[in-house]
Amino acid sequence: MTQPEVTPKMSPVSFLRDVFGFDAFRPGQEEIVDAVTAGRDTLAIMPTGGGKSLCYQLPALARDGVTVVISPLIALMRDQVRGLREAGVEAGALTSGNTPEETDAVLESLREGRLKLLYMAPERLASGATVPLLQRAGTSLIAVDEAHCVSQWGHDFRPDYLRIGELKRQLGVPLAAFTATADAETREEIVQKLFGGTQPETFLRGFDRPNIHLAFAVKDSPRRQILDFAAARRGQSGIVYCGTRAKTESLAKALSEAGHSALYYHGGMEADARREAETRFQREDGLIVAATVAFGMGIDKPDIRWVAHADLPKSIEAYYQEIGRAGRDGAPSETLTLYGPDDIRYRRQQIDEGLAPPERRAADHGRLNALLGLAEALDCRRKVLLGYFGEAPGEPCGHCDLCDKPPETFDATQPVRMALSAALRTGESFGAGHLIDIVMGNETEKVRQRGHDGLPTFGVGKGHSKAQWQAIFRQIMGRDLMRPDPERHGALRMTEAARPILRGEESIVLRKDTIKSARSGPKVRAMVSEEDAPLLSALKAKRRALAEAANLPAYIIFTDRTLIEMAETKPSTLDQMARIGGVGAKKLESYGREFLAVITGAEEEVHPARRRLAGREAGSLYDRLMAAQADLHRGPDGMEKPMSCSAKELARVASAKPRDMAALERLIGPRHAERFGRAFLQLLEDSSEAS
Ligand SMILES: [Zn+2]
Repeated sequence: MTQPEVTPKMSPVSFLRDVFGFDAFRPGQEEIVDAVTAGRDTLAIMPTGGGKSLCYQLPALARDGVTVVISPLIALMRDQVRGLREAGVEAGALTSGNTPEETDAVLESLREGRLKLLYMAPERLASGATVPLLQRAGTSLIAVDEAHCVSQWGHDFRPDYLRIGELKRQLGVPLAAFTATADAETREEIVQKLFGGTQPETFLRGFDRPNIHLAFAVKDSPRRQILDFAAARRGQSGIVYCGTRAKTESLAKALSEAGHSALYYHGGMEADARREAETRFQREDGLIVAATVAFGMGIDKPDIRWVAHADLPKSIEAYYQEIGRAGRDGAPSETLTLYGPDDIRYRRQQIDEGLAPPERRAADHGRLNALLGLAEALDCRRKVLLGYFGEAPGEPCGHCDLCDKPPETFDATQPVRMALSAALRTGESFGAGHLIDIVMGNETEKVRQRGHDGLPTFGVGKGHSKAQWQAIFRQIMGRDLMRPDPERHGALRMTEAARPILRGEESIVLRKDTIKSARSGPKVRAMVSEEDAPLLSALKAKRRALAEAANLPAYIIFTDRTLIEMAETKPSTLDQMARIGGVGAKKLESYGREFLAVITGAEEEVHPARRRLAGREAGSLYDRLMAAQADLHRGPDGMEKPMSCSAKELARVASAKPRDMAALERLIGPRHAERFGRAFLQLLEDSSEAS
């Protein structure tokens, strides 16, 4: 069915500026907004963080009537509604999370024709009352978020999504579907089930997220690797994805013991506990969640500064989706993915033992291969990643670990042929450990028992160390030249891809061991220059105070990206403030003055107690005490009552430099000493050693 084109009263771009405070669209947004505003059926495949929600929010404002937004993510809907209201837009949600009063208020504004956006959980569609309600309300557009939930193959399948196609037919309105999923089968299912088989206008947009730094590292004391990564990013919100529930709990504990605010999250927790963890993560600054992949679908926190994988994700799509939760505000964000041979075996086994039909399993192996190819890449990871999604940047990105430091490579044709031959000569019945013993010529019990010391390949690979052989076998598996045999536990079988190498028709280049570079430690990128850093922290402190007072997540006030722009451009008038990205009319009115005061009065904003220390050693000590205190604001596990020392107390500590707990207690009192004492004394000790 084709829809009549609608000429909007006001252009979407004027709403973009006036309501949301942005001067320009992000790449790819405008065409989608235009198509949806004009009332054409639309399917947009765009990455999370690509500015998806604006693609239906702006058309909703530009069009008459109500736009119904269907999403499976209750927390996300509630946050979007809050965000829209903060920006001065009439929006409401009908979800199972509503109180009766909230539902009444939504229905009333719907009746009065005030509502512009109505968010709704798919379960609502099962009720017979919903269609008449939406008809009476003057629904003029349906927007479907997470449209891949209509796919019966996906693990996000929501049966109620199958009702959306019928809803569209009954209301006779255009539909705009959004998803971050890229695979062709799912796209086809969306077209069939949501659009009744009629091809909508389709946009495949911008998979690049240039603000996200990409990095992989081979596992080598993985817990230490994660702790080091987190330590270098103290105070920033992050997610650590773990392969098992048990690991989420042990890592969260280790992170807490290392002084971070950290929680764990997995599907085995009670619903209440899960919700609480989600809510805290959403609201608090600087919290780390160690989680299984169950965490994330409902999270729409734009200021997640880093995502680490303690274990290899299951496919390149999963990897992309999970790292994509970082930096949705567009500010610099970092990722680290750890992997090793056990991960590869585990993921293969998971596919082989799964219930999917054989062709699906083959496709899943292919997706895993793509991820392994990314892990073992020889140059720019972004080129490999985007290449998979059909975008081919010509230049290296300059923003991944391999661009930062190109890996050393070597012609591995000979050793790979040795490995393949050792496997073939032993009937493809053994795992990497035994095959390494054979090529290295180790006379182990197992080798002697089976007579493998008599093989022609025995000892041919003495020239490489065991660690080098492990790296070679890992890359052999990563390149899918050998695969664990699902029938024979752990045994490696050669794949077709290896044949040309074995026959000497192709050569192969591998990376030298990557473990050393993993040990060199994470590189930390500052969000702003050193000069602007104090202003940025002052702006963040102001934001935190406002958010706590209004009981809102901090980013609803302003995102990190907006604060960074403020810190860098330092607007001195409200007019200049209005030009900052993310400062719309309503927010300018609500918060403009207060943030302006922080910027223009940055000097005056400094507490007099700190100002008196300016230019002295105690001044910088004061700042470090302040930072240590912020880390412990809610206690070492992030679960306790917020607490902080006054500026005067900190100034006293910075000047007097007490050496023991008793002396510190006299300055800040026993309660504060209990919370902050150890950290403060450590800091004072470190600084006296340094000076
Ligand atoms: Zn790169």
